[in-house]
Amino acid sequence: MGVLVKKVELSWLDRTYVWPVLKGMGITFQHFLRQLFTSTAKRYTIQYPDMKKEMPAGYRGLHELKRFEDGAIKCVACFMCQEACPARCISIEAEEFSDLTYTQGFEEKRPAKFSIDMLRCIYCGMCEEACPKDAIWLRNDYEVAAYDRLSMKFGKWDLMNTYAETDGKEAISQDPTPSVPRRTIAM
Ligand code: SF4
Ligand code: SF4
Repeated sequence: MGVLVKKVELSWLDRTYVWPVLKGMGITFQHFLRQLFTSTAKRYTIQYPDMKKEMPAGYRGLHELKRFEDGAIKCVACFMCQEACPARCISIEAEEFSDLTYTQGFEEKRPAKFSIDMLRCIYCGMCEEACPKDAIWLRNDYEVAAYDRLSMKFGKWDLMNTYAETDGKEAISQDPTPSVPRRTIAM
């Protein structure tokens, strides 16, 4: 059904276009004054990048591939996130999880390669929703910029190390061998 849009009749003052412009400038000036007399913490605008905003809980920023305490990747290369991604920007290559088999209580697979094209990602969080292992999540970092397109393709190690510094963890560049089984399997 169509919506009837009421036509706004302009007054002679509006039709001069001077008054609306003055009104707009007045609003801008009002905000300018308010900013001047508001404490820095409460201002709408901040001195970025010297100051950074605290993002609210649930904010969907850069992704992280989670690890266990021993550093082993939580992802089991099930491809659920890749399937769920509406932007088709996740690509995964699975590999066997060395000699440690499923029956020994270790996961069967892990990603040999895992990449997200951040230029295509729309930060919808569907990958996080779809993951059965709680292995991927979008956290609070919103500073995603690079000088070339290739650098915007985040690989497995980039994704595992995104928040390493923030969390005080060591950045890793190879898969550690897990020391303890992840779960107990009834044989
Ligand atoms: S946040 Fe959305 S678009 Fe980005 S990788 Fe995840 S599912 Fe794909
Ligand atoms: S991140 Fe989660 S959903 Fe994606 S492949 Fe790994 S385990 Fe599966």
